[in-house]
Amino acid sequence: MSVLIVGSTALDSIKTPYAHNPRLLGGSASHAAVAASFFAPVKLVGIVGEDFPKRYVQLYHKHNIDLEGLQIAPGKTFHWSGEYEVNMNNRRTLTTELGVFETFTPILPKSYQNSQFVLLANIAPGLQQHVLNQMRRPKFIVADTMDLWLNIALKDLLKLLRHVDGFVLNESEARQLVNEDNLVRAAKKIHKLGPKYVIVKKGEHGAILSSPSGIFLSPAFPLHSVKDPTGAGDSFVGGMMGYLSTAPGPIDKNLRRAMIYGSVVASFCCEGFGLNATTRVTRAAIEKRATELKAMTHWKS
Ligand code: AMP
Repeated sequence: MSVLIVGSTALDSIKTPYAHNPRLLGGSASHAAVAASFFAPVKLVGIVGEDFPKRYVQLYHKHNIDLEGLQIAPGKTFHWSGEYEVNMNNRRTLTTELGVFETFTPILPKSYQNSQFVLLANIAPGLQQHVLNQMRRPKFIVADTMDLWLNIALKDLLKLLRHVDGFVLNESEARQLVNEDNLVRAAKKIHKLGPKYVIVKKGEHGAILSSPSGIFLSPAFPLHSVKDPTGAGDSFVGGMMGYLSTAPGPIDKNLRRAMIYGSVVASFCCEGFGLNATTRVTRAAIEKRATELKAMTHWKS
């Protein structure tokens, strides 16, 4: 079973108090695709410009990511830059240069249209919907988003939510979307907008799943040092979808374990700039960390 992932394919310039790394491979789809690739074959939908470095294409190849749906267009690759404060949690966007994304229309190759697991990673909700419209009968659709779309494309986002099974957003976005400070109540209100599964990400404090079988708390793996958390959310949802697509049995039964795997891949992401640490990970290292996380959260009743 493969996972179809659409989202941004970007060059990221990232500043922390300790280092500055320009034009790294980034974007929501890149992070999610590499994370998912540890579990399942991935089909990528995105767009890059003619300036997109060949070594980044090779990196996708290294992870067996199908690039038939990656358009290469005249113009510049989407470029995002951001700066972190000393605590490595607060981030501000310095620039967003859309480049080829400005005129992007995602077109699904025939071989993508039957994909069963679909991740609509962070990108304009209108584009997420456009991808969905080209799918045959997916089994499980998850959408991610960001505050920008709540502010400038809320109508499109609300329309999209009626067609997805799962919705992933961070805690401030959840509060803003339904105007509710309490996250349990916020999740309940978000269910009413469409998604059966609502996952609220809380950064270094993990994530909360609200589903028909109740609430599940997924911890973040405690790290000694965080180099760059950019893409951690995308790695979380990518790893989760990659695992889910290969796990036999009902989604409801597998989703909790899938979130733990997502959380583990996200922890590796934070240990290097851009995708530097994630791309060096092995499935064995993921399993080891998942076992450690289980031991850290398990107690005898
Ligand atoms: P995260 O750290 O999980 O919030 O994701 C960061 C990633 O989001 C970076 O790799 C950026 O390239 C990407 N990104 C930033 N702004 C946007 C945007 N407006 N649309 C799509 N992707 C974006």
